[in-house]
Amino acid sequence: MINSKVLALKYRPKSLKDLIGQEIIAKTIFNSIRNNKVPNAYLFHGIRGTGKTSIARIIAKSLNCEKGIENLCEKNFCNNCEAISNSNHLDVIEQDCATATGIDSVRDLIEFCRYPPTQGKYKVLILDEIQAMSKAGAQSLLKVLEEPPQYVKFVFCTTEIKKILVTLLSRCSRFDLKRIKSDILFSHLKKISEKENGKIPDEVLQLICRCSEGSVRDALSLLDRAILGSSLNKMDLNLAQNIFGHFDKILIIDLLKKILEGDEKNALEIYKLIYEAGIEANVFLNDFLEILYYLKNINTFNLESNSFGLNDKEHKELKNLNQKIDSKTIILFWQFTIKALEEINLVANQNITIEMFIIRLIYLKELNGDNRISIDSSKYNEKNKNSNLNELSNTKKTNDLINQIKNISQKEEPKIEVKNKDFRDITSFNDLIEVCNEKKEMSLKFDLETNVNLVSFEKNRIEISFNENLKKDFIKTLTSKLYEWTNLRWIISLTKRRGEKSVKENQKN
Ligand SMILES: [Zn+2]
Repeated sequence: MINSKVLALKYRPKSLKDLIGQEIIAKTIFNSIRNNKVPNAYLFHGIRGTGKTSIARIIAKSLNCEKGIENLCEKNFCNNCEAISNSNHLDVIEQDCATATGIDSVRDLIEFCRYPPTQGKYKVLILDEIQAMSKAGAQSLLKVLEEPPQYVKFVFCTTEIKKILVTLLSRCSRFDLKRIKSDILFSHLKKISEKENGKIPDEVLQLICRCSEGSVRDALSLLDRAILGSSLNKMDLNLAQNIFGHFDKILIIDLLKKILEGDEKNALEIYKLIYEAGIEANVFLNDFLEILYYLKNINTFNLESNSFGLNDKEHKELKNLNQKIDSKTIILFWQFTIKALEEINLVANQNITIEMFIIRLIYLKELNGDNRISIDSSKYNEKNKNSNLNELSNTKKTNDLINQIKNISQKEEPKIEVKNKDFRDITSFNDLIEVCNEKKEMSLKFDLETNVNLVSFEKNRIEISFNENLKKDFIKTLTSKLYEWTNLRWIISLTKRRGEKSVKENQKN
C-alpha cells in the first residue's frame, strides 16, 4: 500500500528537522514556538515545491502536539498529530485561496475564529496562495489579524509576494524559502533513491537536480519517473533525458562558452550530445533563446525570483559568462537565432542547419571581437600598417553584417509578434485534446483519449496514470508539443494512483 504513494507525499517532511535546505528558518520557528513567542501570523514565500504547506502543517502540529514541540511526534502520532496529518483536525483549517476566494469563505473563516479550540490548544488557519484572495476578503481578514484571540494563529503561503496587500504583509512574520541548492538536493535524492531500491546512477540524479530548478517536489516527481523507468530498462543519462523529454540547460551554457572561445570542434561535439538526446531543432533553438535572454539580464535577476527558471549552478555559470560577452554580441546572437528558427522548417536536414548556425555564431563572434581590437590598435600601433588594413576590412565586414542583420530584424519583427500571439493557453485536459485535434496531432490525441487517465491538471503540470498501450515516446512528444504550443515548460508526472475514467471509457458508458 505504502509503495503506491508518490514519493513527494511519502517523503513529505514530518518535522522541522526534516526540512532540507531551510535550516535557519526551521530554527527560528522552533525557537518562537518553544519560547512561547508565536507571532499571530506566519507568512511563507517561495517558488513551487519548496515546502511551504509542509512547514505550515508542521507548525500546526508543533502548536498542538500532546508531547510538545521538543518531542514532536514522528512515528506514533498523538491524536492531534494524527488528525492534522489526515486533514481532519477540528481546529486546523487548510484552504486554498486560489479556489475559494469569495467574501463568503472569509466570513466562514472569521466565524471559525470566534470560538476557542475544541480538540487542540490552538486554532490554526492555513491559507495557501493567499495572494489570490479578493481585496474585500483580505480586508475583512485584516480586522481579525489586528487583534486575534490568543488561541488563533494564521499561516499564509504564497508564490507571489508582490500581490499581497501591504497592510496584511506588515502584520505577518515573513519567511522567504530558498530554492534548494543542487548539492543538497542531490544528497536528498540519493538517500531516497537508495531507500526505494531505485538503481539510478549519479549522473541521472544530477540531471534531475538541474531540471527541477530547486523545487523538491518537482525533483521527487522526476525521480518517481526515473525509478518507474528503471524497472523496465537499465537507467542511464540518455534514457533519463528521453523519459523527461527535457535536456540539460547546462549543455547550452557549455555550448555558448565554446562558441565564445571560438572552439568550433568542441562546440559541435556538445551539440552532438544534444542531438543524440533526441532534442528537436526548434526546441533547441527556443532553449538557446531563453539562455541568451537570461545571459543578457542575469545581473538584474536574483535566484529566488519566481519566474526565473534556473538553478544555482546555471545561475553562477551565466554570471561568469556575462563578464566575457558584451550586450551587442548577445543581441546579434539573439537576432541570428530568431532567423534560424524561421529558416529551420524550410530545410530537410535540420541538424546540418543547426551545425551551420553554430559555426556562423563563432564566425560572427570573431568578427565582433576583432572589431574591438582594431579600434584600440589603430590608435596606438602605427608600425603595423598591414595588420591595420586587415583589421579595417574586418571592421567593414562586421558593420556590413550588422546592417544586414538590422535590416532583417526590422522587416521581420512584426511577424515574430504575430507568432507570439499564437501561443495557446491550455487550461484543461479537454482543452488539450481539442488543441491536439486542431494541430492534427492525431496519435497524441488518441493516446490522451484512450490510454491515459487524468489524475490532476494544473497550469504547467499534468498528473496521469496510463495503461500498457501508451506509446513509449508519449511523454517526450507531449512535453515538446506543449512547449511549442504554449511556450511554457510543462511537467508531466506519472503516478500509480488511479485517475479519472479515460475519455473513451466515458463515451462507452
Ligand atoms: Zn503529536
